[in-house]
Amino acid sequence: MTVLRRKAAWPADVLIRFVNVGGAAVDLHSLRFATKWDYRGAPYAATTPYEMDGFNWRCLGCKEYGREGDTYNDPGYGDLREAREAAQQHAERCRATPQEQAMTGWEYHVAYGNPHLSGEELNALGRDSWELVSTEQRGGYCLIYHFKRVSS
Ligand SMILES: [Zn+2]
Repeated sequence: MTVLRRKAAWPADVLIRFVNVGGAAVDLHSLRFATKWDYRGAPYAATTPYEMDGFNWRCLGCKEYGREGDTYNDPGYGDLREAREAAQQHAERCRATPQEQAMTGWEYHVAYGNPHLSGEELNALGRDSWELVSTEQRGGYCLIYHFKRVSS
C-alpha cells in the first residue's frame, strides 16, 4: 500500500527551510516589522517606532516563533545571519513532528491605519495568524494593510 504524504507548503516569503530531528520544517522568512531600536541595536532606542525589513523563523512542528517577546521586544531580526543561526539552532534541538493541517485555502483581511498600525496592533493580528502581505498608500497618511492566513 502506498501512503501519499502531503508536503508542507513553502510560502513565497520563505528564504531558507531547515528540517528538525522530528522532520518538521523550520522556515526562515522575510518580515517587515516595526521597531524602536535604531541601527546600533539595544539599548539605543529611537523616539518613535519605525518600520524595517528583517527576518524571523517559525517552526512548523512546535509552532515556536523565533524572535517574539524576547529581550529586544522586536518581532523580528534585522540581521539575516543572526536569524539564520537562531533558526538552525532551533532545528537542531527541536524534536517536534510536523503538524498536519488541512489547508482549504487562504482568507484575507484588510486593515486601515491612520496614519499607521502600531507594532502592538500588528502583533495582535500576528497572534491571530494574520500575516502582513502588502501595504498600500492611498492619499494623505492612510495606509492600507493586506493580511492573509490559512483558512481551515
Ligand atoms: Zn520546534
